[in-house]
Amino acid sequence: MNAELSSDDLDFQDEVRRFLGSELPDDIRGRVESGGRLSKEQHVRWQKVVYERGWAGVNWPRQYGGTGWTPVQKHIFEKECARAYAPEFISFGLKMVGPVIYTFGTDEQKQRFLPSILSSDTWWCQGYSEPNAGSDLVALTTTAVRRGDHYVVNGAKTWTTYAHRADWMFCLVRTGAADVKSQEAITFLLIDMTSPGITVSPIITLDGAHEVNEVFLNDVKVPVDNRIGEENKGWSYAKFLLNHERTNIAKVAISRQRLSQLKSLLLVTPDGLGGFLSDDPAFSRKLAELEIELKALEFTELRTLSALSTGESPGPQSSILKVCGTEVAQRIDELFVEAAGMAGLPYRPDHYLGNAEVDQAGCVESYVNRTPWYFNNRKASIYGGSNEIQKNIIAKTVLGI
Ligand SMILES: Cc1cc2nc3c(=O)[nH]c(=O)nc-3n(C[C@H](O)[C@H](O)[C@H](O)COP(=O)(O)OP(=O)(O)OC[C@H]3O[C@@H](n4cnc5c(N)ncnc54)[C@H](O)[C@@H]3O)c2cc1C
Repeated sequence: MNAELSSDDLDFQDEVRRFLGSELPDDIRGRVESGGRLSKEQHVRWQKVVYERGWAGVNWPRQYGGTGWTPVQKHIFEKECARAYAPEFISFGLKMVGPVIYTFGTDEQKQRFLPSILSSDTWWCQGYSEPNAGSDLVALTTTAVRRGDHYVVNGAKTWTTYAHRADWMFCLVRTGAADVKSQEAITFLLIDMTSPGITVSPIITLDGAHEVNEVFLNDVKVPVDNRIGEENKGWSYAKFLLNHERTNIAKVAISRQRLSQLKSLLLVTPDGLGGFLSDDPAFSRKLAELEIELKALEFTELRTLSALSTGESPGPQSSILKVCGTEVAQRIDELFVEAAGMAGLPYRPDHYLGNAEVDQAGCVESYVNRTPWYFNNRKASIYGGSNEIQKNIIAKTVLGI
């Protein structure tokens, strides 16, 4: 594979850099750089800026308002956004349900839902997992019973990220017999979160943040028009979405950004022996190993993007990206905490959850959000299908075991 950028791609890279340099608001960049959490308002404000520029639908076809970019352009865009400390797009609308709707939805559903996903006017959450159906998703028991022109939905979803911020939820429900554990009895519904009968209850994660929730559905009426595709065929749409989700989960560009941030920090972090951690051979070795793995991952990501752009399914590569991408990201988190030492011990919710600014020039302050981030990101090897499950998929599809 030729990794050199063409002159057109270099021009595109300049264009993206100019855009980020002039349009990314300082407060948002500062939050991302310091590892603090962003408010919904900050996410929406940034996604709208990108939308106005016509770049929100990075992976979407042009006919639906997407960029129509080549795989290399998408790669450049993600890399430059990470390099500039732009926030990641919230993926539930733009990267998950959006592609499901434009691939399997009716014309009416496309017109109704796609524009507000692109403009970030509606926020989505993913209602797949249930208390007894995570890895074994097909065991889900939330039921939808058809009554004329609507379904009546009952059940409970869990770990639902941003359900408290979402306007809509894409949801897997059982439409066949409740006691039959079958992929053939699952349907994909779009549920308005303001519907009567929905209760959202927070789950606070290890870092003290409110990110995930339980969602209880009690006699929730959902119009049949909100069903994607055919009744009982939801499993195939769900799998299509999961493959996309896992490809996005690798986050190579973000890991590269964080590794380079860590390298700069080590230059000013005392090693306790009169020098700096950047001189420490043990640290240098760990950094070099991670850089090599990231490079390999970057090429796998490019191959996957290329396959996606020709209409191929990413297949087992998305599982490889998920496992390796999250393992590298978590090792970078560990190195941050190791480098922080005592500076990583105080918990400062005012910095992490609130809006207190972090002085990036001060070495101790720069580490303030790293330990909560480390705790939060333990999730990466669990969500989107745990890494153990991805290894099973790789064993079956690649190794034939
Ligand atoms: C922070 C966070 C956010 C999430 N956001 C969402 C969301 O927005 N929407 C949503 O629908 N879900 C979400 N999830 C749920 C996530 O997809 C599930 O947690 C995940 O699929 C694992 O399911 P489980 O938690 O039920 O664990 P279990 O399936 O009970 O697994 C427990 C452990 O056993 C292992 N295990 C299970 N089966 C096997 C097997 N066959 N072989 C080997 N090992 C196995 C697993 O790897 C895991 O380590 C989120 C999870 C987290 C942690």
